[in-house]
Amino acid sequence: MKAIVNQEACIGCGACAAICDKVFEINDEGLSTTITDKVEEEDSQEVRDAADACPTGAILVEE
Ligand code: SF4
Repeated sequence: MKAIVNQEACIGCGACAAICDKVFEINDEGLSTTITDKVEEEDSQEVRDAADACPTGAILVEE
């Protein structure tokens, strides 16, 4: 699985990093970015939860 953050859509609310800090972090510009290109299987549900929780739909998940 791969997670991508659309920086144009992200508003930096921090929800994704709060749900899965192994994959998402807030960068110096105050926007979410992915720490890793490849999501480990054990983190996949948290990544899906983060994508669902994102208020702007900025997180794209590729299986
Ligand atoms: S939940 Fe969405 S809007 Fe909020 S920081 Fe993460 S990607 Fe950005």
